[in-house]
Amino acid sequence: MKKQITRRDFLKGTASLAAVGLLGACASGNSGEQNNTTTDVKWDLESDVVILGAGGSGMCAGIEARKAGATALILEKTDAYGGTSIRSGGIIQASGTRVQKELTNYKDDTGEKHAEYYIQEASGLVDADLVKDMTTNSNSHIEWLESLGLVFTNMSGSAHVNCADESLYADRIHGTDVGAAGMFNAVHDEAVNQGVEIKYNCCADKLIMVDGVVAGVEATLDGNKVNVKANKGVIICTSSFDHNVEMAKRLSPNHYYDLTTQHVVAYPGNTGDGIRMGMEIGADITNLGGVIDLTSRTSAGINRQTPLLPCIFVNSDGVRYQCEDNTYALTSKQRYEEIIRTGKPVYTVFGASSLPYGAMTEDSLKAEADAGTAFVGNTIAELAEKIGVNAKNLERTINIWNEDMATGVDTQYHRQSGLTPITGPYYAFEEGFLNLGAIGGLRINLDTQVLDVNGNAIPNLYAAGMASAGWIGQFYPGSGTALLGCVHFGRKAGKIVASK
Ligand SMILES: Cc1cc2nc3c(=O)[nH]c(=O)nc-3n(C[C@H](O)[C@H](O)[C@H](O)COP(=O)(O)OP(=O)(O)OC[C@H]3O[C@@H](n4cnc5c(N)ncnc54)[C@H](O)[C@@H]3O)c2cc1C
Repeated sequence: MKKQITRRDFLKGTASLAAVGLLGACASGNSGEQNNTTTDVKWDLESDVVILGAGGSGMCAGIEARKAGATALILEKTDAYGGTSIRSGGIIQASGTRVQKELTNYKDDTGEKHAEYYIQEASGLVDADLVKDMTTNSNSHIEWLESLGLVFTNMSGSAHVNCADESLYADRIHGTDVGAAGMFNAVHDEAVNQGVEIKYNCCADKLIMVDGVVAGVEATLDGNKVNVKANKGVIICTSSFDHNVEMAKRLSPNHYYDLTTQHVVAYPGNTGDGIRMGMEIGADITNLGGVIDLTSRTSAGINRQTPLLPCIFVNSDGVRYQCEDNTYALTSKQRYEEIIRTGKPVYTVFGASSLPYGAMTEDSLKAEADAGTAFVGNTIAELAEKIGVNAKNLERTINIWNEDMATGVDTQYHRQSGLTPITGPYYAFEEGFLNLGAIGGLRINLDTQVLDVNGNAIPNLYAAGMASAGWIGQFYPGSGTALLGCVHFGRKAGKIVASK
């Protein structure tokens, strides 16, 4: 029995995993023959459904597989269950729920509206059927989580975006008082109660093909190679290439930038193994390039209920380049693009007039300035010199902002919060990224089958959670989306494979 995990274990766990070198326990990549015949393989373990990864999507898959009458075996690379899911914020999007009706003004919300909002946020560059399937079933996942003992007590909504029709918006982010640990300990306990078996320290290395069909997995269990037979199918739930620098360099420049210069706090076990294994046998990949990035200092655009610290984001020319209170992953995407476009840092600029709205004080900022993590100027020109931007441009930028604030309307970017003039002394810091994981992975269809590059389902291969893709577009559309996808596609995959 594994110990119950609390949120405080998160960073500690990350450090200790790296320290013991557990992540190096897997065999690296494929070296063997893919086209076996039945007699070629000696099987060491066997289950109807074999699931790779005991994170959120994997455990959900296991539960539904057992409920549908199949045996379910999860192979987990590390010595703990939960992956990033159990270390997350534990909030999940859903529409048309009883909780939403009770706690918000959005009493007529529907899964269809929810889907359309996501699709517009993605500029249509998602698989609309997958998105609709996920949102129109979201209500049932909240009810299921409630049946495991969770009580949803609070609701919030994603910060605004100009690319989606505001009439489609609703507060959809469901939260409990027990966080992700409460949620995924409950999911884990349900998996155990249902008879799902989890093998820890068991790294899936490669898919085993027999007569052109995925028949099982080659894995490293406690240092020994084992062949695990999957009678009905294999479900890849190993999340994205969150900590794989090489894959990120090839597949997602933004994620590569974050991995090499910023903080990536997804579970260290997530190194893109399942995506690599799928690609090795011809799986298609899709919707790569996005990341779940937060601004590291201001939490700008974290949700619609948290107003922005009155500040502006300026580029190396001292000019605003975006709407600062758009949803966080959109502002982060634009910040990354600005850094790449100019090859220079971008800054968050604010003033003494902003301090009453946040946690920072004159003294804390002075201490930060002494430490080199913030900049202070009595005049705009002095601040501009310290951060190396054109002083006249920065003066013009702040003047335009302050003139707009006389009427409370941001004429440049239509910002909705933090609408306060900026007066001196002036402050700035270089804005960075807190990365919660990469986006993009194996292309799946409505039955969670992994597709090859011609759109054909690879026999007996399925994927769910952040290892699967097609349901998130170019930027992360708001908190709670990943867990909705994990629970939805995880549960669905388990049920479908078990029912074959
Ligand atoms: C700090 C933080 C807060 C977040 N908050 C939220 C939130 O509140 N709401 C939300 O929707 N999203 C949130 N996210 C994002 C979300 O938590 C993740 O995207 C999601 O949990 C991923 O779930 P998953 O099932 O795909 O993978 P995971 O839950 O990460 O599970 C993957 C598992 O696969 C295992 N594995 C990997 N490779 C192998 C292998 N070769 N063999 C066997 N096992 C393997 C891993 O060890 C891991 O246990 C947050 C992320 C972070 C980092």
